[in-house]
Amino acid sequence: MSEALHIVCPHCHTTNRVKSDQLSSAPDCGQCHQPLFTGHPVALDDAAAFDKHVLRSQIPVLVDFWAPWCGPCRMMAPAYEQAAAELEPRVRVAKVNTEVAQALGARYNIRSIPTLALFVAGKEVARQTGAMTDPAQIARWVSARLPG
Ligand code: ZN
Repeated sequence: MSEALHIVCPHCHTTNRVKSDQLSSAPDCGQCHQPLFTGHPVALDDAAAFDKHVLRSQIPVLVDFWAPWCGPCRMMAPAYEQAAAELEPRVRVAKVNTEVAQALGARYNIRSIPTLALFVAGKEVARQTGAMTDPAQIARWVSARLPG
């Protein structure tokens, strides 16, 4: 018996139920039929979409709070892309452009960027400020903070 997990679609933000042993078999969204995991960070600049992923996902959600004008953010972006491919489907990897989503930056009191925040069951469990430019370092940081 494998448990079903709520997985929020990165395309249409519908909540899907996926058996945990199906997560790594490239499941598609029941609503829009696109892959539930793309190997790329999903942009959650819309607060409603952000809330759906962070509050409803039954896998941890990693968020990179960044901005286009931030040099260290741009330096970290390629490593973050690679880390996404490595961490999915255990973790939903997302990014928030704090210039677009100023309310989200304020809600989470983001004072400097890039800031990585890890959410489990809607609660922030870890935060790291400053660029990590090695994908393995990002993956290790996340893995060390996952529950269980
Ligand atoms: Zn979908």
